[in-house]
Amino acid sequence: MRFEIVRGDITRFPAEAIVNAANRYLEHGGGVAYAIAKAAAGDVREYIRISKEAMREQLGKSSIEHGEVVVTPAIRLEQYGIKYVIHTVGPYCGGVWDEDKKEKLKKAILGALRKAEELGIRSIAFPAVSAGIYGCPLEEVVKTFKEVVGEFGKEEGSVERVYLVLYSKEDYERALKVT
Ligand code: ADP
Repeated sequence: MRFEIVRGDITRFPAEAIVNAANRYLEHGGGVAYAIAKAAAGDVREYIRISKEAMREQLGKSSIEHGEVVVTPAIRLEQYGIKYVIHTVGPYCGGVWDEDKKEKLKKAILGALRKAEELGIRSIAFPAVSAGIYGCPLEEVVKTFKEVVGEFGKEEGSVERVYLVLYSKEDYERALKVT
């Protein structure tokens, strides 16, 4: 399994699955969630409806916890080779980072990776989950991604490539410096 840090817009990143940094209710109100919903369905409210229905069908409830994920179709994003959107929820940090936040982020990343295996796909792209509106330090988020993917990659499965897609040049350059 290869892990790559790249710069780009996840709504047009050619991976079989892209991950959404969602909130618990899959409301897609801002940030990358809004961008994905808008790009996938054209209409954000329509993608929220689709997401909430998928959550009911897949989990039998109307909110998700860290580690739980919901899958929705890529619709318009299929033109880039994207087949699925996997919604995961990272921790809210508000600038504070500790072991508890790290565990929650690990669960959120791992949940999406496991779902990708279940779907039998080969490539998956993540945004910097929790490093935007949720205010977790980017360097810690990148470090956590490296750890989780490193551990997960030891197991044999369908996923060959994991991408961490940074939107801004500044975030991308900061992420590259994380060891
Ligand atoms: P969270 O609430 O989990 O912090 P955000 O959506 O606020 O989620 O941000 C997560 C990360 O996604 C941020 O680093 C933000 O800059 C980035 N982001 C926003 N739009 C895009 C996009 N189109 N492609 C990739 N990353 C994006």
